[in-house]
Amino acid sequence: MKTPGTEVITSISKDEMMSVLQSLCKFERVAGTEEDLQAAEFLLSKLKEYGIRCEMHEFQSYVSRPIHAEFSVYAPYQETLQSVTHSFGQPTPPEGVSGELVHVDGASVGDVSGKIALTQGGLRPGRVLALERAGAAAIVNISSDNRFHQGITTGIWGTPALREAADIPRIPVVSLLKDDAERLAEACAQTTASVHLKAEVFIGWKPLRIPVAYIDGKDPEKFLLVGGHSCSWWEGATDNGTGNACALELARILHKHRDTLDRSVRIAWWPGHSQARYSASAWYSDAMWQELHDGCLGYLNIDSPGVRNATEYTIRAMAELEDFNREVVEHETGKPISGYYAGKRRPPRTSDQSFWGVGIPSLRVSSMIPEDHEDFAGTPGSAGAWWWHTDEDTIDKASADVMETDTRILATLALQLVNALVLPYRPSRMAEEITGRVNELNEDVSSTFDLSKIIRYAERFAEHAARLESKIEELDDGKPEAVASVNDCLLRLSRIINPVLRTEVGRFYHEPVAAKPLLPGLSHAAELTQCAEGGDVYGFTLTQTMREANRVTDCLARATEAIERVL
Ligand SMILES: [Zn+2]
Repeated sequence: MKTPGTEVITSISKDEMMSVLQSLCKFERVAGTEEDLQAAEFLLSKLKEYGIRCEMHEFQSYVSRPIHAEFSVYAPYQETLQSVTHSFGQPTPPEGVSGELVHVDGASVGDVSGKIALTQGGLRPGRVLALERAGAAAIVNISSDNRFHQGITTGIWGTPALREAADIPRIPVVSLLKDDAERLAEACAQTTASVHLKAEVFIGWKPLRIPVAYIDGKDPEKFLLVGGHSCSWWEGATDNGTGNACALELARILHKHRDTLDRSVRIAWWPGHSQARYSASAWYSDAMWQELHDGCLGYLNIDSPGVRNATEYTIRAMAELEDFNREVVEHETGKPISGYYAGKRRPPRTSDQSFWGVGIPSLRVSSMIPEDHEDFAGTPGSAGAWWWHTDEDTIDKASADVMETDTRILATLALQLVNALVLPYRPSRMAEEITGRVNELNEDVSSTFDLSKIIRYAERFAEHAARLESKIEELDDGKPEAVASVNDCLLRLSRIINPVLRTEVGRFYHEPVAAKPLLPGLSHAAELTQCAEGGDVYGFTLTQTMREANRVTDCLARATEAIERVL
């Protein structure tokens, strides 16, 4: 691997990052508010101050901002409890909602019609829609601890398209602190409990602004896209003020040494993550689709770096970039990724991963608090800290030293990717992932659906991927045309495979927030084993499976053909 320019790394300034973080934390960066727009203007002004070519995009986003909640117990005891409401929780009528409270425990929602459901996971989009469709009048979420963690209830990715709008939640949601909620759950088990709640929530259209920095290398059309959300909850120092400061520092140092870049880097700050479910990155993906498709080498997301006591490292990469991502991070940290964090390899369906439909491979590095540290609470942001999405995510939780280390690793990832002669993608890792998933699925469905044709196509693709990698090994001093055609082929493979491997909705829509298996479309085949042969559901599922099988064989055939052309 080529050693990155040490001059780039040594120009990282902790003082500059801390000063940016201090400025950002003065704004409460809730998407769609005046302060959020001011924060975007501040980021743009810093890019201009550094002399970086930049622009501001503006678009209309469907956003939601929780304003106020009230909650009272009427029976079996009388008490007013602290509560909050959430993004895309439905506002109640001004007089509020009253009714019987039922404790919904476990996976199924049971009989909640006309009642108020007290439940854990009450912000999870799947849970919210299930309770709404079962006729619940409102949801009372049991917080994971005795702090209010803000969040969003919709699972629609980005601003909804017309065909997605039916899944916008239409049910009020409030959260109670864990102890208060558990006391109520006990009361529900003994007797009939009745409660009253009010929720005031803004839901509507607001302009959001996306600052974008362009650091042009020798090839301006091939670029790494770096992004991280700029909106937050409360002060949001470590989720994601630190990330915004690291991204700005990355822009500054790469721009300063732009003559060392073979390809380009584009850096974006996304609003609409926290209060509009990734609407800015989704909009950018929609607005720039063709340009991203043709030129984007990878998406590097920056979320919650630079947290105090974050000494462990983890990566989240797609199969083709996993080895590269891991090697750089292990080299830079001087230790293997191990233990708790080693098993979390692929990006989850969160964190502005808005480019799966385009087929762009993503990579990521996250510094994390060790599992046995007192600040660790296993939360999904702020390096796993207990203060994630609370009003205690304040600037004292950030560390200039960790920000410096994290920026060095981010810069190394960016430099090595844009300066690689041959892009560091491993098509054989994609092949392993596909073959593994098809074989796993075959074990479940072999009695109901014949996957042997797909297995043959997958094996053929795997053979070709291995041959391509052998060819790449011989390319080190290769002719420029041969290197260029291999790089084009590697990009094309990602574009062909990722939308089928990771999405059900395809290339031009965004997969909603839900954990799905690889090959999510074909995976419905497993449902054939759960329904009665000859029935309607069986027939419809079989029809869908046949079509999804064609999507997979077509993808494998096109990927194999793309490799054949360069062998
Ligand atoms: Zn975050």
